[in-house]
Amino acid sequence: MKYVTELECIDCGEIYAPEPERYLCESCDDEGLLEVKLDYERLAVEWSREELSSDPRGNMWRYGPLIPVKPGTPRPRLEVGSTSLYHAPGLAKELGLENLIIKNEGLNPTGSLKDRASAVAVVKAQEAGRHAVACSSTGNAATSLAGNAASLDEDMEAVIFVPERVPGGKLAQLLIYGAVVVSVQDNYEKAYNLSAESIDRWGWYNRNAAINPYLVEGKKTCVLEMAEQLDFEMPDWLVFSVGDGCTIAGAWKACKDLREIGFIDKTPRLLGVQAEGCAPITRSFRTGEPLEVTSEDTIADSIAVGRPRNYKKALMAVKNSGGTMVNVTDEEIMEMMTLLGSRTGIFGEPAGVAGLAGLRREAAEGEISRDDDIAFVVTGNGLKDIDNARRAASEPLEVSPDIEELRQIFEQRGIIKEDE
Ligand SMILES: *Cc1c(COP(=O)(O)O)cnc(C)c1O
Ligand SMILES: [Zn+2]
Repeated sequence: MKYVTELECIDCGEIYAPEPERYLCESCDDEGLLEVKLDYERLAVEWSREELSSDPRGNMWRYGPLIPVKPGTPRPRLEVGSTSLYHAPGLAKELGLENLIIKNEGLNPTGSLKDRASAVAVVKAQEAGRHAVACSSTGNAATSLAGNAASLDEDMEAVIFVPERVPGGKLAQLLIYGAVVVSVQDNYEKAYNLSAESIDRWGWYNRNAAINPYLVEGKKTCVLEMAEQLDFEMPDWLVFSVGDGCTIAGAWKACKDLREIGFIDKTPRLLGVQAEGCAPITRSFRTGEPLEVTSEDTIADSIAVGRPRNYKKALMAVKNSGGTMVNVTDEEIMEMMTLLGSRTGIFGEPAGVAGLAGLRREAAEGEISRDDDIAFVVTGNGLKDIDNARRAASEPLEVSPDIEELRQIFEQRGIIKEDE
């Protein structure tokens, strides 16, 4: 917290003290989103790239000076961050591009980028003196919260509200981590409302990323880490899928922080990608009209958010970066799951690869040029949602245990050529 100065409402500019349970702006009828303000001048003087590179921690806490938590509060034991960055020349070529790198956030301890926000949430919950922390989630916010809470030394109950459509892998994770799991027999919107009421009534710590200003600060560590991995040479484009809008807002906050403290010169443009069956933010971006709530009709459950709470920060992020937004169909997402897997060995969940489908569209339409440097973040692990992966993938070859039959099938499929 050393460099945190205050919280500022993004709508009216009202200033608040950075208390752990300050969520929204009162002057804006408890709707204005708050942003964590940092003392960039002091950071620029007191912290350097050299100091960062000599930090021995191989997790997100190495970016501590930019993360709004107290140094003494115990961290979760799970090691969040330090996910791999790959060059993907084969995949790039397939998309008509030259320089594509991929950051695989599915490698985080509970399998998604959300671990970065949840790690901050369980630290803030302790600072608030709470012993229970709650959220509503389409899945990954919940699983990451349950896992990170379970890895604390002190007791911290995770109370989770999920919509009934949550994929089996994520539900299994929640139950294995020992969370209290409330499956709301309705959509995400209804699960969210019930969680908000419950949090008010029972006084738990609130890990709903869209209203808790500290969580975006956790999410931003993905891009802080990427910048360090790239030796502070940022790409031309950063590609993210968008649901509530916190992830892409966090990406932009990271860029802003790094630029303001002099770690980077150039900031990337952001490409935000939504699913066609649930794209309220893209619509608002394109039309300039206020957000309209939509239905949630896509296999990409993690970005199926019909009433995104953080859309203002997301829109500001994309606009300020000079970026753009695009939608993709479920068919394109499924195609990308197999393309990404077969070209790179990375297995992403539908929302985790939606960005890639958007990238292909923008590259095909010339919005993104062939020789631009592009970084794409796989936000979640494919093992969380096996049913949709099976729908996207082909079937195995079925044979009886007979080498002759096998040979015939192999020949039919062109897997072998035997000249006899
Ligand atoms: C949460 C999530 C997103 C989108 O993040 P938002 O902050 O909701 O925009 C994308 N992909 C995966 C795998 C997620 O879990
Ligand atoms: Zn306000």
